Amino acid sequence: MSVSTDIVIIGGGPAGMSAAVNAVARGKSVRLLSSEGNNLERAEMVDNYLGFYKLTGAELMLKFAEHTAALGITHEKGRAANIMPLGDYFMVNFAGDIIEAATVILAIGVAKARVVPGEEELLGRGISYCATCDGMLYRGKKAMVWGLAPDAAEETNFLNSIGVDVKMVAKGERPSELNPSIPFISGALKAVIGDDSVKAVDLGDATLETDGVFILRNAIAPSTLVSGLETENGFIKTSTRMETNIPGLFAAGDCTGSPLQISKAVGEGLIAAQQAAKYVDKAKL
Ligand SMILES: Cc1cc2nc3c(=O)[nH]c(=O)nc-3n(C[C@H](O)[C@H](O)[C@H](O)COP(=O)(O)OP(=O)(O)OC[C@H]3O[C@@H](n4cnc5c(N)ncnc54)[C@H](O)[C@@H]3O)c2cc1C
Repeated sequence: MSVSTDIVIIGGGPAGMSAAVNAVARGKSVRLLSSEGNNLERAEMVDNYLGFYKLTGAELMLKFAEHTAALGITHEKGRAANIMPLGDYFMVNFAGDIIEAATVILAIGVAKARVVPGEEELLGRGISYCATCDGMLYRGKKAMVWGLAPDAAEETNFLNSIGVDVKMVAKGERPSELNPSIPFISGALKAVIGDDSVKAVDLGDATLETDGVFILRNAIAPSTLVSGLETENGFIKTSTRMETNIPGLFAAGDCTGSPLQISKAVGEGLIAAQQAAKYVDKAKL
């Protein structure tokens, strides 16, 4: 199978950018996909990254971004909702588009996401993390979007456009980009109620009947992002070559575990890129 991109990298932090630089150095075609925001940007001062000291995290990120830009690598902004391993290639669901890639590097960092009561129990039985992937299952039915991610309003509009009777719940004000015909509730999802499938949601001061709940967070647990991916205590299990248990899928940086530090993320990004490049070369033989 010939696919348009050799290596898709998910995550634009130090690990992802290091992977991108090193994949380009190996002559591979690369797409660097990332949600907005990154942990390092919040660091007041970084003193332990070799050669760059007394810089704020944001300043260091800017240096990394200058480096990737100089190599012609663009950061494509958006959320990867799902990655499907299909044997000899991958399909990545990114910001509503499908991207095909020979290999994928996960450099998604760690982000704490509070799990809603009922979420784990009803996952796949009315709970979904991806409107584009599962939307059609709810055509002609009721669904609710719990929108924490920046693209949540867009995803809700998509569900509405394919004939889902959808409502959006999110903290704060109604997003301006939400289709005016879609009901919006300012609030929070407290629990998902159901037995063999989702029946309703608990919004604290109201219970809403629904057939499905789309939980759209910025942070998606790795095992949710890629079905069948082996994790341990929430971190992706890898070999020393940054291989996951899925052939062609590599991981680097905070998402693989401690120490959660820039130097380790950058080093693992290099190894993941080199191994992904080798994998592509072998597959082309
Ligand atoms: C306040 C603070 C101070 C710190 N100070 C230091 C320090 O002084 N020295 C040090 O070495 N380390 C420090 N760290 C740790 C350092 O920031 C991390 O180790 C480093 O950022 C890890 O890089 P990463 O690329 O693995 O992950 P991250 O930097 O977290 O990047 C992950 C990226 O993936 C994106 N992403 C996640 N999920 C998806 C998805 N589904 N689709 C698309 N994109 C996605 C995120 O938006 C993010 O851009 C600090 C961290 C914090 C929070």
